[in-house]
Formats: sequence, structure tokens, C-alpha cells
Amino acid sequence: MSLAALQEIERNCVVLSYTRFPVEFVRGEGPHLWDVEGREYLDFLSGVAVMNVGHCHPRVVAAVREQVGRLMHVSNLFYTEPAMRLAERLSRTGLGGKVYFCNSGTEANEAAIKLARKARPGGEIVSVHRAFHGRTYGALSATHQEAKQAPFAPLVPGFRAVAPEPESLAAAITADTAAVLLEPIQGETGVNVLSDELLRAARAACDEHGAALIFDEVQCGMGRTGSLWAYQQTGVTPDALTTAKALGGGLPIGALLTGPGLADVFAPGDHGSTFAGGPTVAAAALAALDIIDDPQLLTRVRDLGARLAAGLEELPHVLTVRGRGLVLACDLDISAPDVVRRALLEQRLVLNATGPTTVRFLPPLIIDERHVDQALERLGAVLGG
Ligand code: PLP
Repeated sequence: MSLAALQEIERNCVVLSYTRFPVEFVRGEGPHLWDVEGREYLDFLSGVAVMNVGHCHPRVVAAVREQVGRLMHVSNLFYTEPAMRLAERLSRTGLGGKVYFCNSGTEANEAAIKLARKARPGGEIVSVHRAFHGRTYGALSATHQEAKQAPFAPLVPGFRAVAPEPESLAAAITADTAAVLLEPIQGETGVNVLSDELLRAARAACDEHGAALIFDEVQCGMGRTGSLWAYQQTGVTPDALTTAKALGGGLPIGALLTGPGLADVFAPGDHGSTFAGGPTVAAAALAALDIIDDPQLLTRVRDLGARLAAGLEELPHVLTVRGRGLVLACDLDISAPDVVRRALLEQRLVLNATGPTTVRFLPPLIIDERHVDQALERLGAVLGG
């Protein structure tokens, strides 16, 4: 079907909640995408931090093919080996507690919020300004952004947002706090790296008042920063973390990983989801973890991130570059949405703008130096031209 035909269907049949670029992708491999006309693109967005293993990674494809040919879904009323193996694998990746499966990042945060509330009934959930935790009512109530919240008021009571500063956060945490929910790197609002000092202050105040410290690693986890989890480079260990996006190697799965202290808060019937942790997505996630949880790959993520950041700093119109590993952003002195559009349509480089002057970079983690240099060249052509 032509792009024009798809656009006509969208106009007539699709509820408007996205603005799409006029490009129809039909195939992907590694860091590359191809459109319906056969043109090749370099993908430095990864379906918004999902395709960390690259498009159609052969090991993920093989694992999914094998599993869908054998057993796709049975519900959580029964056992399947992929789900149990994935839970065991994830529980060994750092926090050492137990795992709750769901289908998305929003749902993982929703589960975390419910878990924290059950652990401290009626307790407040504290998050910080510029956070993004998702769009359902609980997750949205922790996403203190006027434009996203205002049309949907009233939100869930018992949520509070403070400035992402150590003193403000510490002052907000009391004996009535159930949890502090933080993204170690705030992805959707422009790759704002929360300082280790802030995370340490949150840890200390949570310890003092018996509140749960929960990290939302939906975007910054799964190898993105050059360690499997972002917290592993901060010196601060949370009581639980949420993951999704890249966990399934391209398929939808989310998870809440607890430490030992929160591992037994939920009892049967407290929470659930029909598809959660199904064998197909669990098989995909096991394959994705095999690829990502590899010291050599993680070291390369840090090296390639440094190369990309250094290159960006040399480009015209770039004011500042920030981030860690391969989650980076730069502020421009010109319109970021215009630059992103021109990069896509003129240079076939897929990027995204997180604000009027901010461009975000989330390439697949399997790229090499050539891809970094190509991306810089193509973006340079837009910025210099
Ligand atoms: N948390 C963070 C940090 C995110 O970046 C996102 C999505 O961008 C979410 C939660 C929501 O995840 P999902 O879109 O899978 O529901």
C-alpha cells in the first residue's frame, strides 16, 4: 500500500494521538531501516530505545520463531519455562529479589506504585519535575507535566513532585512517604542526568523514613548507559526498578524487579495482566539479555557514546551535549524539530526532538564507529547546510 493510502486510512480511521513523519518503513536490520521505496535509513532512535539489539537481531528472531511455533500463550494460571527462566535471570542482575511481569513501561511503574502503596498503606509517592513515568492514571500522576496531566484531571491523590535537587527531595520524604520514583536519566524530557548527589540524598532519606526508592529504568536501562542497569554506575542501589522498552528485543514486555525487602509484598490476586510474561515475549527477552548483558558490548556502548558526544560538540549550532553511554541529547540554537525532519527526509538519519531545541540520540547498542561517524556526517550536513 502506498504512503498516501495509509495516510488516508489514518485520517478516516485512526484516533489522533500521534504526529507521524511521512515515511513508511517496511524492513529493518541492525541499525538500518528501509522505506517502502527501498531507501535505506540509519536509525539513531531505535523505536524510542526499544531496538537496543538492533532491528531483527537473528538470535531474537530465532528464539521467537521457535517459541511461537511451539506455544504462544497460556495465561498466568500455568507455568511456562521461558517466564520462569527470565524471572530467575532478571533477579540475578543486581537487586536480588523477585520479578513481576507486565507489558509496558507504564504498567511496570503502575505495578511499582501499587507495590509501594501496599507496603505502606496510604503513603505518598514522590517524584521530581520533568519526570516521565507513563500515561495511565497512576503513572501519569507521577508525571508532573502540566500539558500531559491537565486535560485528565482529577488525577490520583497522594502524589507529589519536587525540584530535582537534593535538599528539596530530602525535605519531601517523611514517614508518610511510600516511595520515591526517579529516572536516573530523564529520557523523554531531554536526557537530564540526575546527579549522584541527588540519588544519594534520596537513598538516605528513604532509609531514614522507611520509604521505597524505585528507579524507572524503562528508557535508561537494558545496557543503554554502558551497564546493564543505569543505577550500577551511580553508586546508589534502589529497592526496586522498572524496565520495559528494550527488554523484549522488539516485543512488548515490562518488568518490576524488586530487592529482597519488597519481594513478598504482593499476594495472589493483588495485581495481574492476561498477557504478562507470556512465553513468546519471555523467550525474546532471554535472547535480548544474552546479547546485551555482555561486558564487551557494554564497554563499547561507553566508548561509542564518548565518540558520538565528542563529535556532536564539534557540529555547528550545537550548544551543549549531555547524557551517558548511548543515551545522549544536544541543545541547539535552532529548531530541533526542523533539524530532525530534515535529517530524516534529506539525510535518512532517524532522530527525535524532545523539545523545541533538543535532539535526542538513542542508537541501537550494536552499532560500530562507522555508524557513529555516518550519523555525525549526516547531521552535520543538515546543521551546516
Ligand atoms: N518510563 C520512562 C522513563 C519512559 O521513557 C517511558 C516511555 O517513554 C515510560 C515509562 C512508559 O513506557 P511505555 O511507553 O512502554 O508504557
